[in-house]
Amino acid sequence: MIVITQPNATESQINEIVDRIRELGLDAQISRGASRVIIGVIGPESLLREKRLAVMPGVEAIVPVLKPYKLASRDSRNPSSVTIGNVKIGGNEDVVLICGPCSVESSEQIVSIAKVVKKSGAKILRGGAFKPRTSPYSFQGLREDGLRFLAEARAETGLPVITEIMDARDLAIIEKHADCLQVGTRNMQNFSLLKEIGRSRLPVLLKRGYSATINELILSAEYILSEGNMNVLLCERGIRTFETATRYTLDLSAVPLLKSKTHLPVIVDPTHALGVREFVPQMSLAALAAGADALMIEVHDSPELAKSDGDQALTPEIFADLVPRLRAVAAAVGRSL
Ligand code: PEP
Ligand code: MN
Repeated sequence: MIVITQPNATESQINEIVDRIRELGLDAQISRGASRVIIGVIGPESLLREKRLAVMPGVEAIVPVLKPYKLASRDSRNPSSVTIGNVKIGGNEDVVLICGPCSVESSEQIVSIAKVVKKSGAKILRGGAFKPRTSPYSFQGLREDGLRFLAEARAETGLPVITEIMDARDLAIIEKHADCLQVGTRNMQNFSLLKEIGRSRLPVLLKRGYSATINELILSAEYILSEGNMNVLLCERGIRTFETATRYTLDLSAVPLLKSKTHLPVIVDPTHALGVREFVPQMSLAALAAGADALMIEVHDSPELAKSDGDQALTPEIFADLVPRLRAVAAAVGRSL
């Protein structure tokens, strides 16, 4: 079982909780997050059912270990929402559109795309400053300059920004500029990175590894949660199958499955799954029908000149045309957008 402390629990309350656990002959493993402390309790099953712990000052919840992923599990929890900047995703909140280019290419580019996607209904801006490219000779991102340009776009539009982290050494600088960390498909099982960002105050959008099972995705989320960062969003972005007609295969069954197994918000990124612009609108509609809490869609105002993923980016016009149709599908499944 694990003990989750309240965000405002004092050191002496935490020490008393740990002392009580040890008095019972159990072992306590402590992980400190930005706002909470997570105490893993290890010992005989009968003692783990100790009721007095639950009423101690500073204890928020006691979660039994029924599944390998105890903090992510849906067991006895309502779907949770995660706040990025001033935007809530998940639970009963409105469906959210997260849009922007694959890569931040210049201040002018990101500011103008931010304005145009906001006008059509996007609530969060995306853009990569550190890019995970298959070839070391491809554009690797503008790094710190890219982060500054994202922050400029936020200042101009008010849209919170999300950007990918590839290396824990970049955490401090990304935390300075961004509102949400993205872990890309290639790093879903980079466990040392997951542990590090588990100690960040920023929410984390965790993309499914393109060869990862649903359980592996949830266990990767558990790495972040178990370090005390409770703000994790799961993202289906396509998996590798025998089919090569699309870049990856969008596994939409992941949406209801993840929602039945976890309380975490579920996002779908149809852009990277499809790899071609033409089919992104249909699969975006399908993702909302399946119950996604948010969509991540790449939009570029000159896709033919994009430094990465130009073939799959929607133009601002295609995106603007898609939004009313997304609204209709969201309404059909009882959500607003
Ligand atoms: C991206 O969002 O630009 C990206 C690289 O995504 P993924 O990790 O899903 O390939
Ligand atoms: Mn991309």
